[in-house]
Amino acid sequence: MTSIKQNINQITLQIGNSIQKCGRQPDSVQLLAVSKTKPIDLLEQAIEAGQRTFGENYVQEGVEKVQYFQSTHSNTELEWHFIGPIQSNKTRPIAEHFDWVHSIDRLKIAQRLNEQRLESLGKLNVLIQVNISSEESKSGTTSEEVMTLAAAINEMPNLTLRGLMSIPANVSNYDEQLAAFTQLASIQNQLRAQYPQVDTLSMGMSGDMDAAIEAGSTMVRIGTAIFGARG
Ligand SMILES: *Cc1c(COP(=O)(O)O)cnc(C)c1O
Repeated sequence: MTSIKQNINQITLQIGNSIQKCGRQPDSVQLLAVSKTKPIDLLEQAIEAGQRTFGENYVQEGVEKVQYFQSTHSNTELEWHFIGPIQSNKTRPIAEHFDWVHSIDRLKIAQRLNEQRLESLGKLNVLIQVNISSEESKSGTTSEEVMTLAAAINEMPNLTLRGLMSIPANVSNYDEQLAAFTQLASIQNQLRAQYPQVDTLSMGMSGDMDAAIEAGSTMVRIGTAIFGARG
C-alpha cells in the first residue's frame, strides 16, 4: 500500500516535471492538499510529510478540522483554504476559521465575509470563482462579471483579492483542458493589470493538473492523488 507521504512526493515530482517542461520558474506552483471527507489521521500523515496547506469543501467538517489542529498541533503553522460552494447563511464560520476562500461567486458572499472577518485574524485572502465552461451545474461568476465583482472586493477592508479559481468541465482531452485553463489565465492577466496584489491562479486537480500548470496555474488543488478516492 502506498502511503500519503509517497503520494505527496510523487505529486511534488509531477508538479516539478510539468513546470520544467513548460519552462516556468521552480516553486511557482503550490500544492493545496484537498482533504474533504478524509479523516484526521490522514491529514496528520500529510502534515508529517511536510504538507502545510489544506483545502476543505464543507463548512462544519472544515471548521472541526481547523479547531482540532489548532488545539493539538498549535506549534505547526497550517493554512486552511475553503474551496466549496458557499451558502450565505454559512459565511460566518468560514470568515472566523479559514485563511483563504477560493469560491466567491457573488457580491453578497464577499460582503458578508468582509463584515464577519475578525480584525484580529488579519485579512481574509479571497479568489473569485469563475464558471469558465459555463456549465449550469457549476457555481462561479461569468467571465464578464469578474471585473465588476473584483472592483467591489478591492474596496473591502477585511478582504484581500488574490486572484481566480475555476473548476472547468471534466474532460480527459489535454488540449480541451488547456483551452479552458488558458481562458482563465487570460482573465487573470486583465485582473493583474489593475490589481497588483493579484498573484494566485487556483486551477488544476488530480485529473488535469499538467494542463493547468502549462496554462499558468500557481496553485493546484489535489485530493484523490494524495488521499485516495472518496467513498
Ligand atoms: C474535491 C475538489 C478538488 C480535488 O479534486 P481531486 O480530483 O480529488 O483531486 C479540487 N478542487 C475542488 C473545488 C474540489 O471540490
